[in-house]
Amino acid sequence: MQVELPAVRGFDKEDPSLLGVILSHPHMDHYGLAFRVPKATTFLMGEAAERILAAAAVFTPSGGTFDHVIHLADCQPITLGPFVITPFLMDHSAYDSYAVLVEADGQRLFYTGDLRGHGRKAKLFERLVAHPPAKVDVLLMEGTTIRREGTDSGFPTETDIENELVGLFKATSGMPLVWCSGQNIDRLVSVFRAAKRSGRQFIIDMYTAHILKATGNPHLPQAHWPEIRVFLPQFQKNRIKRNKEFELAKEYSPYRIYPETLANAAQNSVMLFRSSMQMDVEDAGCLKGARVVYSMWEGYLEVESTKPFRDWLDAKGIPLYKCHTSGHASVSDLKRLTSTFSSATVVPVHCAEPEVYAKLFDRVKLHADNAWWTVR
Ligand SMILES: [Zn+2]
Repeated sequence: MQVELPAVRGFDKEDPSLLGVILSHPHMDHYGLAFRVPKATTFLMGEAAERILAAAAVFTPSGGTFDHVIHLADCQPITLGPFVITPFLMDHSAYDSYAVLVEADGQRLFYTGDLRGHGRKAKLFERLVAHPPAKVDVLLMEGTTIRREGTDSGFPTETDIENELVGLFKATSGMPLVWCSGQNIDRLVSVFRAAKRSGRQFIIDMYTAHILKATGNPHLPQAHWPEIRVFLPQFQKNRIKRNKEFELAKEYSPYRIYPETLANAAQNSVMLFRSSMQMDVEDAGCLKGARVVYSMWEGYLEVESTKPFRDWLDAKGIPLYKCHTSGHASVSDLKRLTSTFSSATVVPVHCAEPEVYAKLFDRVKLHADNAWWTVR
């Protein structure tokens, strides 16, 4: 089903009244329609987010490039026509995520983007709670985790996940296969650190190596680090051939690990994995004593399309363990946020349960999708 573009002037055809589109972070549900608006549109996003979207497009059908971009940077106001936009770098499961304060005509709206307070950048959430922008009229706040398990008491931190992973890796005789998003940088750091603490190298696929490079952050695990090896699964090899990205593949060739050495490396490695790599690991014969550590939202595992994967695990006798924490704030953290924005009307976005949301927080006003409304 094709999602319709929202009824905004400038989305279906160029219109000078559309000054720009803010992409708070590089998650599909926040940029998925961006490539369907006119190419002349100006986008506002983080510099690393722009690079990550370009890097993703090499290996996956997602991502892409933009012709006109204004970069968001932490606490650096941008003036766009009558608007002043101030980005706030945020803790989220996507790299380079921002909340934004939008000011115009004496009114102030704060959009949280997607955020959390229990990741590796929890300090950014605490900074916002301690020093929120003053006199905000409207708080557009996400509510993804409402009704999800554990949301009232708070979620495990990334450090909790790292510690749990250490236990799982140490208890695995063969290869731990970790299924997590190649763009969940916080989680990749947790896996890398846990691998290191377990005396194992970390095998990442070339797509993930390319995303890590795109962050531009030398403190994050990178392909050339001695504890990292780069594996090229068949589907990524096919993409490289089809897109003739041979120079890119060459860049990672000094750090490659090849299928014929995976079996011997199994007990000294942790491998990043997804269900599309089933045949790669099976053909490499590296599954003796293996276990899958599923480190994404549990809901994805329940959908019909992952049934062949679950059947495959059963057939091979590979155990699956879940080890994950949400990329989104718990309700208890969201409550802290709404109390700190004490003057603001709270409007739910990114929430499947707006009626429940309205009962959880004070000063909530519901607005329908695609409906225009005035702040005051
Ligand atoms: Zn997100």
